[in-house]
Amino acid sequence: MTSETPGHETQETLSNLLTETRRFAPPADLAASANVTAADYDEAAEDRLGFWERAAERLTWAERWTNTLEWNPPFAKWFVGGKLNVAYNCVDRHVEAGRGDKVAYYWEGEPEGDSRTITYADLQREVCKAANALEELGVRKGDRVAIYMPMIPELPISLLACARIGAIHSVVFGGFSASALTSRIHDADAKVVITADGGFRRGAPSALKPTVDEAVRECPEIEHVVVVRRTGQEVATTDKDVWWHDLVERQSDQHTAVPHDAEDPLYILYTSGTTGKPKGILHTSGGYLTQASWTHHAVFDLKPDTDVYWCTADIGWVTGHSYIVYGPLANGATSVLYEGTPDTPHRGRYWEVVQKYGVTILYTAPTAIRTFMKWGDDIPAKFDMSSLRVLGSVGEPINPEAYVWYRTHIGGDRCPVVDTWWQTETGAIMVSPLPGVTSAKPGAAMRPLPGIVADVVDDQGNSVPNGGGGFLVVREPWPSMLRTVWGDDQRYIDTYWSRFDGMYFAGDGAKRDDDGDVWLLGRVDDVMLVSGHNISTTEVESALVSHPKVAEAAVVGATDPVTGQAIVSFVILRGSAEENDDIAAELRTHVAKTLGPIAKPRQILIVPELPKTRSGKIMRRLLRDVAENRSLGDVTTLTDSSVMNLISEQLPSAKSED
Ligand code: ATP
Ligand code: MG
Repeated sequence: MTSETPGHETQETLSNLLTETRRFAPPADLAASANVTAADYDEAAEDRLGFWERAAERLTWAERWTNTLEWNPPFAKWFVGGKLNVAYNCVDRHVEAGRGDKVAYYWEGEPEGDSRTITYADLQREVCKAANALEELGVRKGDRVAIYMPMIPELPISLLACARIGAIHSVVFGGFSASALTSRIHDADAKVVITADGGFRRGAPSALKPTVDEAVRECPEIEHVVVVRRTGQEVATTDKDVWWHDLVERQSDQHTAVPHDAEDPLYILYTSGTTGKPKGILHTSGGYLTQASWTHHAVFDLKPDTDVYWCTADIGWVTGHSYIVYGPLANGATSVLYEGTPDTPHRGRYWEVVQKYGVTILYTAPTAIRTFMKWGDDIPAKFDMSSLRVLGSVGEPINPEAYVWYRTHIGGDRCPVVDTWWQTETGAIMVSPLPGVTSAKPGAAMRPLPGIVADVVDDQGNSVPNGGGGFLVVREPWPSMLRTVWGDDQRYIDTYWSRFDGMYFAGDGAKRDDDGDVWLLGRVDDVMLVSGHNISTTEVESALVSHPKVAEAAVVGATDPVTGQAIVSFVILRGSAEENDDIAAELRTHVAKTLGPIAKPRQILIVPELPKTRSGKIMRRLLRDVAENRSLGDVTTLTDSSVMNLISEQLPSAKSED
């Protein structure tokens, strides 16, 4: 839509402003022994369904499927007729193969010294006991179980116990409010809640049970509340309550894993609500586990015998479902499971955990990486992190500067960084570099994985040429795709399949660079229209973060009488940088130099914090309210609503040269 580019009026739906010339080739030794090679792209391109069949053969099936894909757009069934038990695949088969003594989880509580080692044999006993307990409570195949827990071993055990008996779990992040829990229990019509008295956060017990009590009072459909004792806090008890240790401990540790249909539901997970009313995303069994397992093997180059893998997400988010529980366990991996926050009891806690367990693969989020940058290079430098060999990023576009910092200060300049794009809806990674194959560019998700047909299209749904920007879509069904929105097929069709004919539209903007590699540009709802140019928030934020004094930045478009919208930036300075009158001017000039004058922010506000969702994503919608002097919209999914007061206080000092 830029009028200055003749012939591209309808092609360029999103401006492509940022050029990045840095490249990082895969380390030679990693490339030489990589799980996946360039040949996999060709094989998958030639025979996509054959490729996914081979991936499905990584699992143990009680009955093989008869039809790989049944596609009645937009409804897909994968591995039709196949039968498997997801929990058996994640646990029992490793024990049967003689790997019962292998560690499944090194669990690290937040209080120092609080840790537990859980082998696959331990996990099998615990999952069997929990499955027997759920059955004793009357939970049957197809029933829904809500799970609201801290990051303790009973959390993955509960997921696996549900999977084992064919009950559908609905994990609700432990930071959500009673009303969020109530609405999710109602929507799924859950009959049991599994919870804990509390968990440890920031050095203190943080209660969960009172929130559950408040929610369950509104939920007559809940028959039982199972409570793990974690913190030892006082809890009120109701006649629905039963302690985990009373119920589960007395169960038999034997339980037969009955095979379920490949298309039987595995779980519902509500999207995090960054943009609107949460949707219950439904995932099923065979296709989901196939793609979670294959991508974990491919994208992290997981070697189950030698790697120690750590994904820092909470199991309350899809990243935790697919890359703490199902993918790693299906692959027989040894993982770290950490209860707490990165700054308790000190800001080096993550690096201390890496050192303690010899973590080789680390998967975290850009928000955490930018926070570590802000805290300073000297903190990770105090720890021995020479065990690390692959680093991953997920959740938001990673700014090139944050990528390079991660690579340098965490990865010792030897570890490839994989920027993995995917969503709750996609179930597993879709677009990502492969660590032994891709010459990665900082900030780019690079290429769709083998077997995934993703594309960048213009507003008419035509593929954009190299150098063009537009919308990220998926053109063919994939095994771990959402099957529907729970109880609402129409919402599934309207939300994901209506914008472009026959394509899944993910809601994200993207561009294809001159080599054809894909860069994510943030949500299309956040795109700014400045003097007829569609400018992505991501590119301007990355330009700001590339300035040595900037740690984090969020930009939004605010109504402007001259340009339609004008760019307003909220900036957090690095630890060492001083706020002074010249900094705003300096940053505006820096952006103009990096991206061109069109992207120069009208205003720069130096702020102490940014509003984030509980999964750490910047909530630009609230910043837009501030920039346009409106009263704030819904703040219920914010981590800390007092942040908005801190930001509003900065407004009078708005630094603008216009
Ligand atoms: P909601 O859909 O409820 O608003 P959400 O989209 O934040 O919440 P998730 O499914 O957890 O919930 O996140 C997926 C989104 O996160 C993607 O659509 C994309 O916007 C962003 N994202 C995830 N990984 C990446 C990545 N590597 N690069 C760029 N963006 C990413
Ligand atoms: Mg989303």
